[in-house]
Amino acid sequence: MRKIQILTLLIGFLVHFSCNNSENGNEKSEISEGLTVVDSENFGIVIHGGAGTILKKNMSDSLEAAYTAKLTQAITTGHSILQKGGTAMDAVTATINIMEDSPLFNAGKGAVFTHEETNELDASVMDGETLNAGAVAGVTHIKNPIDLAVEVMNHSEHVMLAGQGAEVFAQSRGFELMDPSYFYTERRFRSVQQAKEKERIELDHDDKTALIDPFILDTKYGTVGCAALDKNGNLAAGTSTGGMTNKRWNRIGDAPVIGAGTYANNATCAVSSTGWGEYFIRGMVAHDISAQMEYKNVSLKEATHDVIQEKLTKLGGTGGVVAIDKTGNVSMEFNTAGMYRAHMNAEGTLVLAIYKD
Ligand code: ASP
Repeated sequence: MRKIQILTLLIGFLVHFSCNNSENGNEKSEISEGLTVVDSENFGIVIHGGAGTILKKNMSDSLEAAYTAKLTQAITTGHSILQKGGTAMDAVTATINIMEDSPLFNAGKGAVFTHEETNELDASVMDGETLNAGAVAGVTHIKNPIDLAVEVMNHSEHVMLAGQGAEVFAQSRGFELMDPSYFYTERRFRSVQQAKEKERIELDHDDKTALIDPFILDTKYGTVGCAALDKNGNLAAGTSTGGMTNKRWNRIGDAPVIGAGTYANNATCAVSSTGWGEYFIRGMVAHDISAQMEYKNVSLKEATHDVIQEKLTKLGGTGGVVAIDKTGNVSMEFNTAGMYRAHMNAEGTLVLAIYKD
């Protein structure tokens, strides 16, 4: 009798366990060693290299070719990781590393200058399977801030570390501290000089409260970001930036703010933002896209369109997002004249564009 009771309990437990699993929508199969079996050939990746007043008429052929080549190198690197069955997180970070190491983008090597003519870098990542996230803000000696964001996610109890503390943590994890001169590029240095000059002129003007639009000046865009779906159905997103030219007072933008600059959730989508960060924080842009999909059951296309073209635009914000959903649909939505952007699907078809039309 007792044996039957134990057996009944055991069957009940197994039935309950399997029901819970299917309720969670967990369709992944596990083999006994604990390895996840790759059960889908569907994957994809989408990237941006910043949004802003990017006009064909202001772009030389050689600069356009350089951007196209670097975006292609970055996305094909991430794509080949996914193709081999690598994780969305690995694809996102490897892709972003390539753009961080290029002087073309406002991230890592090509970061813009602050008012004090230093470089303060922000980055974040999010894993859509676990909803784990990591971020760093205002770091000044880290070559690849996206890697430090991953380290914060995987090897600390925290989500966001800032400034000197983030760099003490980086050293404890074996990161090399770069001399700040590594981040010097003439183009970005000239840009902050121009911004300061413009500010002087505006402040000398009668209307001392005039708002300075940071997007009027050239070369302030170039934040980088990536969102990916891997063969296991996992989503990840990451964003890395030098912030905005001429920023001061340790200003921190949206890029390291989970929900504003970066968001990923396997139930919906993965998103990376670029643009005027204050508006992206106020609009919680990346999370709003995911939330619209989750609560209103709308498509990725509808959610990104509503958040960028309606809500962000009404607020007065400028910029865009790249996003990929759990089935591999991609969106690259922006309300500026251009956004460096590209995506690749499982078949390896590459779509790359810079300007609006
Ligand atoms: N979103 C970044 C920031 O506000 C800048 C950019 O994407 O261009 O720091």
